[in-house]
Amino acid sequence: MIWFEAGTVILETASFAPVIGKRMEVIKQQIRPFSNASVPSVHPLIQDLFGRSFNYLRIALNEQCNLRCIYCMPEKGISFRTEDKLLSTEEIFHVINIFSNMGMSKIRFTGGEPLLRDDLTDLIQYANETIGIESIHLTTNGLLLSKHIKLLENTGLSGINISLDTLNKEKYKTISRRNGLSLVMEGIEKAIQSSIPSIKINVVAMRDFNNNELLDFVALTKENNITVRFIELMPFDSHQIWKTGKFYGADHIVTDLKTRINALELVDGSQTEHHIFRVKGYKGKVAVIPAYSRNLCGECNRIRITADGKLLNCLYSQEETNIRDAMREGVSDSEIGKMIKNTMLKKFRDGWEAQHHGKDHRESMTQIGG
Ligand code: SAM
Ligand code: SF4
Repeated sequence: MIWFEAGTVILETASFAPVIGKRMEVIKQQIRPFSNASVPSVHPLIQDLFGRSFNYLRIALNEQCNLRCIYCMPEKGISFRTEDKLLSTEEIFHVINIFSNMGMSKIRFTGGEPLLRDDLTDLIQYANETIGIESIHLTTNGLLLSKHIKLLENTGLSGINISLDTLNKEKYKTISRRNGLSLVMEGIEKAIQSSIPSIKINVVAMRDFNNNELLDFVALTKENNITVRFIELMPFDSHQIWKTGKFYGADHIVTDLKTRINALELVDGSQTEHHIFRVKGYKGKVAVIPAYSRNLCGECNRIRITADGKLLNCLYSQEETNIRDAMREGVSDSEIGKMIKNTMLKKFRDGWEAQHHGKDHRESMTQIGG
């Protein structure tokens, strides 16, 4: 396939030799999707006081990462939790069961870097076999994608979001503190060629870093049926780089796109995507996500589980409900179901209220699950 020439950036067609990862030991025979779980299986909706209902579960699989994006993680990493604190494969199966019995239909695996977890394909397959789960998605930095794409293709994965903030090799090194642009491009190319239905590229927009690359990213949608999503920087890193003038708001991005591209048409996107466009004649779409401006909160349908098994009712919430310990202490699924319902009932009206309630103690978005 042919990449594109746009603006000042010229990308070459990536050459690649398929590297298929070694299949992992499948341990899920021991834990089949629970058909007789004690939580009622009629999919009662989880709702909050504002009438929102929740069907989208985001599970962080780890905190570790093979990149050190400057807005996410310090060079030396964070105080990573030890493995015993993180959810095991079986515990994640259990979480999937509990939530599928409570009406979840969509799951996203994120992190940290989920492709560093060697049980990833088992987790996806398990979710795929679980009654009620209709779509399973993955968010990855793409570094290991070309290596694992064949395995992922066979899991029933519905979509992959690949994070990439620049198309320039040197800038990639600056933002991620690692080399790897060509590997990520190779991963994107293979993902597009694969049978996985939805491929999206997540770009965190930053002033004086990549706001001059918006059109280069849009050009990726010319020949490829993908969605490029420009996302606002959020205040989740311990260095608080978002306070250094790098924030580039959704309104700016939309204005830039509208003034610089004549043939921009409004189209539909997913529930979380505001401002969705297609350049006339292009195969893919462009979306702008006001992740910090937070005018999405009224439509929020998400529940988050951190890598150490804590339930968050909002990306900006400081309060956590410890599902991991409840499972480890043998609390019944129906009691855990009540904990989940109570937590979601207490969800604040929007992320602003959630953020102002309590002291932020997080070092990185990996502790939330991006
Ligand atoms: N490592 C994977 C990746 O980068 O796609 C998954 C985890 S990462 C935390 C998920 C998403 O969160 C990425 O798209 C990343 O760009 C985004 N992210 C991390 N820190 C952020 C921040 N401070 N503001 C906005 N987005 C952020
Ligand atoms: Fe790693 Fe993703 Fe955070 Fe970058 S954004 S450091 S790739 S977890």
